[in-house]
Amino acid sequence: AGDRGVYNFAAGPATLPESVLLKAQSELYNYRGSGMSIMEMSHRGKEFDFVIKKAESDLRRLLSISDDFYVLFLQGGATTQFAAVPLNLCKIDEPADYIVTGSWSDKAFKESQKFCKPNVVWSGKSEKYTKIPSFDVIKQNPDAKYLHFCGNETIHGVEFKDYPVPKNKTSILVADMSSNFCSKPVDVSKFGLIYAGAQKNVGPSGVTIVIVRRDLVSDSQPITPVMLDYKIQADNASLYNTPPCYAIYICGLVFEDLLDQGGIKAVEERNAKKAGILYDAIDGSAGFYICPVEKSVRSHMNVPFTLARSELEKTFIEEAAKERMVQLKGHRSVGGVRASIYNAMPLAGVENLVAFMKDFQARHP
Ligand code: PLP
Repeated sequence: AGDRGVYNFAAGPATLPESVLLKAQSELYNYRGSGMSIMEMSHRGKEFDFVIKKAESDLRRLLSISDDFYVLFLQGGATTQFAAVPLNLCKIDEPADYIVTGSWSDKAFKESQKFCKPNVVWSGKSEKYTKIPSFDVIKQNPDAKYLHFCGNETIHGVEFKDYPVPKNKTSILVADMSSNFCSKPVDVSKFGLIYAGAQKNVGPSGVTIVIVRRDLVSDSQPITPVMLDYKIQADNASLYNTPPCYAIYICGLVFEDLLDQGGIKAVEERNAKKAGILYDAIDGSAGFYICPVEKSVRSHMNVPFTLARSELEKTFIEEAAKERMVQLKGHRSVGGVRASIYNAMPLAGVENLVAFMKDFQARHP
């Protein structure tokens, strides 16, 4: 479990690669002989200029992002993007479509009601957010300015395996990829906008990455606060005001690390293997552990499950923590257990958890 001795299954802020943390630790006090820490230096100086430009170019390489898109490093979390998206992509009286597959896309929809006229075109609420619809049943509105969905519902463990296409040609595909960003390849060219809070796969909380097509940023609503205006942020290369320098620096180290690990395809393969082992253990437990999510859309990042004997859940989580597997408690809104197994969770962490689950079951016949 690395030198720190635990496997950390937190949903976010989440575990980061050991090698990244060690490098950051060594550079924290004195960044590359500058006599300053990254968090102590001007965001307009040459050292930080190098950091942010390299972070952007490494991310572009990792996800093959073309020059048709801006890559922005913003603040306010993905939650702020719930407002920024409608403010930038439509007028106050224009329609937008939302697919609601869990709590996060529901929050995005609700926030957008203040800034446009959104429609829920599909909701999984009545089935407790365990499904994603087949795309032909989604009744898109012909005049919708964009189609929004959440690529991976962090709380419910539901993940899109491929992506819907907006029906009307001028509509734009928009995705919240906070919890599966950089976990697998994505064809960015199919999207108008992708946003992601960093604190799951790519860094600490405090920075939100927005990838937005260049031609979409020039028509924000007049009430748009400057900080939420993509054009202002893009024209200033994310440096309109003081950015979250240290968080961007850590993201840069993570992107470098993902490239060193063989790029995004290799990352996807490792993630699929980890998720496969865990779901097999759940499904092979003769009903002792239950994952309610439909098999074809189970998340490779967040694996929620319950124990058929729910009175054992507390003991399960406590005993796992004693075995140094921490932060396994399900989200407060749904309960149960949730194992978040982002990029930085090693295979050995998942194998350890599965061994513990089998042992726990054997001890509670
Ligand atoms: N969207 C998704 C999918 C999330 O998982 C989260 C947070 O966990 C958010 C949005 C909200 O992110 P933030 O807390 O950065 O605003």
